[in-house]
Amino acid sequence: MSVECFCLTKRYGRKLALEDVSLEINDGGVTGLIGPNGAGKSTLIKLITGLIWPTEGFVLVDGYDAHREHVKAMRRIGAIIEWPSFIPALSAGANLDIFSGGHGKQYRAKRDEILRFMELNTVLDRKVGSFSTGMKQRLGITLALLPDSEFIILDEPTNGLDPAGIVEIRQIIREYNRRFGVSVMVSSHLLSEVEQICDNLILIDDGKLKAWGEIGELLCEHPRLRIRVDRPAAAAELLRSRETSVMDITTEEIFVEIEAEQAGGVNRMLVEAGFSVSHLAVERQTLESFFLRETGGGE
Ligand code: ADP
Ligand code: MG
Repeated sequence: MSVECFCLTKRYGRKLALEDVSLEINDGGVTGLIGPNGAGKSTLIKLITGLIWPTEGFVLVDGYDAHREHVKAMRRIGAIIEWPSFIPALSAGANLDIFSGGHGKQYRAKRDEILRFMELNTVLDRKVGSFSTGMKQRLGITLALLPDSEFIILDEPTNGLDPAGIVEIRQIIREYNRRFGVSVMVSSHLLSEVEQICDNLILIDDGKLKAWGEIGELLCEHPRLRIRVDRPAAAAELLRSRETSVMDITTEEIFVEIEAEQAGGVNRMLVEAGFSVSHLAVERQTLESFFLRETGGGE
């Protein structure tokens, strides 16, 4: 199962919402789609699921064109986009049956298994109108998983949730992926959330693709050096004067952007200038600093 985007451009009238995006998502993991509000995340998801037509470019899902062969392409994809509106006066079970169009013994067995996993099995007969936001989100994920999906796409599933609800949804996504091997694409404007559950990352900003790939690899591309030194501000000034990029300074440490093999040189430079360096370590970048670097400020 793969999703391939080729030179996707989307205009809404004069608004260029997505520009020339090409990428590929393969089986297996959790892919995080991040970008500030208005970056084009929902637009990309709607294009991948064939809900809107691209201005230019095309999408292949499982080898089928997401627009021209929509039914075949979507056979094994479940998506929740900008969250479904369930019918409040009907029970959770009735809502699932109506929106999934499912019936029969096999369907009910599958439905009940997912509901147990989502911890919604005890509220099957309760009206959705009485559900909390978190329960509705979990019901939404259930709906996405129902048609034997191998790949589910969730657009900002933690929007509107409190911190506990966010943790809960995060765990559900991670755990479901691990246990059942369902690939997940999840969008968010919250960096920490994506950093915690995703294997792969797609970063878009202002309609442009800024980065995509395995999250560990992306963050290791430009490592940072953590230096504990007696006079951080003065040490930072020295490093800046020698054209070393200082990312951050605290009362005890400075962080510089660096190639791993340059760490020894930085240490020598500081020691020779009379600084006392007590700790030096090459670390992977945080998603936040990666994001700021790629978006040139961003959020
Ligand atoms: P995100 O999901 O990252 O917040 P969207 O994909 O929803 O971003 O939107 C990207 C840009 O396109 C935004 O500037 C938004 O205002 C604009 N946009 C989205 N949908 C429409 C539409 N139907 N008509 C006009 N502009 C739109
Ligand atoms: Mg959106």
